[in-house]
Amino acid sequence: MKDMQKGISRRSFIKSAGVAGIGTALAPLAGRDRAHAATPTQSADTTGVPTRPFGKSGIQVPILSLGGMFDIPSNQTMLKQAIRWGVTYWDTAHVYSGGRSEEGIGQYFKRYPEQREKIFLVTKSTSRSSRGMSNDLATSLERMNTDHVDLFFVHAIRDADEMDSGMREWAAEQKAEGKIRLFGFSTHSNMEQCLLDAARLDWIDGIMMTYNFRLMHEEKMKAAVKACVDAGIGLTAMKTQGGGAVDTGTSRELELAGRFVNKGFSDKQAKLKAVWENPQISAICSQMPTMSILMANIAAAVDRTTLTDNDRRHLDRYARETFSHYCAGCTQICQGAIAENLPVGDVMRYLMYARSYGDLNDARRRFAAIPDEVRKKMIQADYSAAEVRCPRQLPIARLIGQALEVLA
Ligand code: SF4
Repeated sequence: MKDMQKGISRRSFIKSAGVAGIGTALAPLAGRDRAHAATPTQSADTTGVPTRPFGKSGIQVPILSLGGMFDIPSNQTMLKQAIRWGVTYWDTAHVYSGGRSEEGIGQYFKRYPEQREKIFLVTKSTSRSSRGMSNDLATSLERMNTDHVDLFFVHAIRDADEMDSGMREWAAEQKAEGKIRLFGFSTHSNMEQCLLDAARLDWIDGIMMTYNFRLMHEEKMKAAVKACVDAGIGLTAMKTQGGGAVDTGTSRELELAGRFVNKGFSDKQAKLKAVWENPQISAICSQMPTMSILMANIAAAVDRTTLTDNDRRHLDRYARETFSHYCAGCTQICQGAIAENLPVGDVMRYLMYARSYGDLNDARRRFAAIPDEVRKKMIQADYSAAEVRCPRQLPIARLIGQALEVLA
């Protein structure tokens, strides 16, 4: 029966919110017993999550990547369980948790050095200079107890012009020295244009970009993804839940959640599935700060149930009805309309972290990094032109005001 492939029922998705549930979900898949799956000290089994090739590199990566924005030093068991279930693509950054993310990974590799070769390890640098990237990479390698990373990203670019010839030379040098295998960038601003421009370069191996059920059907995004795939660039989707800057918890959301619960899985798992249904996407990077979220996402990854046309229609309807709750990262539109090019897109994202991810502390930490003088300008700025231009009709002034209240 199509809906019961791999021995995992839709009902088992819901059960995956509990420890016993993941055992139920995964044990039949890998032919292992539940106790074995739940015992971190047993030998690792990496046959759970399916894999896809990462661009023209051909490297097989699991379709679910472990985002590293959680307290890794205090949650080493998460890493071990991730490996056991085949989540062997780990994503971190020089700046995550002030370095603790990389240190936690290093702690793990120090204890289990033989596991390093199983991991497709990604880190990122916010620097844009050769010297800065070299310093960050050296620190990252030292923190993580490894001599190389599999993919190195320039973090959070807004414009592909940031990827200049100096970066190209730097990447080639690091590859020649064996410190990085692949090179690319991450972006959550102006993603479509960044991808289209990157596809014209011949030295970008991989990109991680904001991509979800809201954006994936838009023509420009479809063209951008196709251009990258044609150019052999591996693509990892992030922010796949499509959470918004506007406070939600609306009846529409509850209705959507209820619909999928009735079918045997959660709306969050449905949103992951919507992205995985596009084979052009190699992997989803998901922040999974707790074992229950890790388990729920793995259950969604190993289950081969596809969304029905009706499921997709419901997601589409939800996306339409909450269109103005979501900031699409098209910052060249709104920021260009404000005299001082203020970081509107960043603030919308921080609100999303607070409201949609429920991570107020992280949102506040990020907001605090905005210089005082910029925050003062944000209080006084006139956002009316930006609101007129915003394709999603976001109430930018009101949201900035809320951010100043909630995140400051
Ligand atoms: S506020 Fe509007 S214009 Fe600005 S990035 Fe978000 S969606 Fe785009």
